[in-house]
Amino acid sequence: MAETLKMYLAGEWTEGTGQEHHELISPVNGEHIATVPLPSDTDVDRAVAAAREAADEMRHWSAFERADLCLRIAAAIEPLVPEIARIQTLEQGKPYHEESLADIEEANQYFYNAAEDVKRLTGEVIPTSSRSKRMFTFRRPVGVWAAITPWNFPVTIPLEYVGPGLATGNSVIVKPPEFTPWALLKLAEAFDAAGVPKGAVSVLPGGGPVGESLVTHDGVDAIGFTGSSATGKRIIAEMGVKRSIMEMSGNGPTIVTADADLEAAAPLAVYGAYYNAGQVCCATERVIVLDEVHDEFVALAVEAAGDVRLGDPFDATTNMGPLNNEPTASKMDAHIADARGRGAEVLVGGGRASGYPTDLYYDFTIVDNVPEQSALSQDESFGPVLPILRAADDAEAVAIANRSRLGLQAAVFTRELSKAFWYADRIRSGTVVVNDSTDFWETFQPFGGAAGTDTGWGRGRIEEFTDLQTVVFDIGSQDG
Ligand code: NDP
Repeated sequence: MAETLKMYLAGEWTEGTGQEHHELISPVNGEHIATVPLPSDTDVDRAVAAAREAADEMRHWSAFERADLCLRIAAAIEPLVPEIARIQTLEQGKPYHEESLADIEEANQYFYNAAEDVKRLTGEVIPTSSRSKRMFTFRRPVGVWAAITPWNFPVTIPLEYVGPGLATGNSVIVKPPEFTPWALLKLAEAFDAAGVPKGAVSVLPGGGPVGESLVTHDGVDAIGFTGSSATGKRIIAEMGVKRSIMEMSGNGPTIVTADADLEAAAPLAVYGAYYNAGQVCCATERVIVLDEVHDEFVALAVEAAGDVRLGDPFDATTNMGPLNNEPTASKMDAHIADARGRGAEVLVGGGRASGYPTDLYYDFTIVDNVPEQSALSQDESFGPVLPILRAADDAEAVAIANRSRLGLQAAVFTRELSKAFWYADRIRSGTVVVNDSTDFWETFQPFGGAAGTDTGWGRGRIEEFTDLQTVVFDIGSQDG
């Protein structure tokens, strides 16, 4: 029996005034699991107006009051964690026990972090040229944010905006993707329970057109976007003068150098390719292995692939579920066909798995001798595939890594400290992880692209949710 959902609009649960609905189909079993109302333009306008009102009020709260609000939200999320995680698995496909529970537990961290950070968000006292002037800076909220988010982390990514956004006195209207709106709508019950001011957070499910209405809306001051480079570029072209945080696609290579600990590197590379079925912006999208250690690394990676257990994501033994949607599965098909056509060797997997309730279960795949020009190497595949490329030496490995427009998060395996820094100094990506998976992250870690790549400019500190305001006082003559 499909659930009939409501949107969370300006503190109310409503079907909205739109006539359209979206049927949410589970990638796990192919069933129609929920009917989701799509907001009309009137609903969007209402959410924006209510967000403005709430932001106008919250800018006067003290930092400590806003920190308390964040802590109340985290406390209200706590009892909902298992149910949100269950819904997330049902609509997204990630394994409940192995990933979804931990994912939702991590969600609270965005509120804890924001509550701590905002209390230390200080301004400056700036020396002036005149004896009679005093100059201060303050961090003011930007106002109304629209957060437009992807389906690979349906709950945590929106909260990357809601947590610091609320803590600094902003309102946030979230537009989750059509593929995965339900888990976040469930979490929105915690906003109610925690006493979030009406309108300070709205969750408007809907597709690209709803995102576009928010992006181009005069009442929206700032955009937080996490998604593909293609959509990100469109948003940048359309949003006009708005503050923005843009977190876009990645193609993070893992580089395995000649002195790497191969026994550690191989399973971590495999993990980076199958975690969340490879649907992670910082997934191990390709491995560049130095010729000297290529054969040994490949043998160890094939062995590690034996640990991947594809299956029903609600089964406690499963560590890889289905892909979320057909466009992603089709992209995998196309990338693997392209690599085969260019002479690459498929060592493990290589296509969709049979015998499952949907066609979205994909075998974990290892492809060796991938030519640099192939789609597997050039583009983000966003599926459970480990493409292996070869490099003659360190210089060539860096050159291959940098011939990419998607420099989000790279990894390097080496036992030498000086070589680790040699790579870090040269790789053009927002993060370089040494001796761990590209899928390593912390909730407070600055996360974003290297300037000049198509991967955006990401998040650094809580300051990014604020405008800098300078206040100048003339205190009169100080003579005599
Ligand atoms: P998309 O770009 O397809 O969608 C992202 C969001 O944008 C969705 O909510 C989508 O709605 C919405 N959208 C689509 N068209 C428009 C439009 N014209 N105007 C405004 N909003 C629009 O990305 P995916 O959801 O497929 O997510 C996967 C991508 O996200 C990958 O490239 C991945 O690397 C990237 N990503 C980046 C991260 C980072 O931190 N850098 C983290 C996680 C993912 P709808 O889906 O309903 O159409």
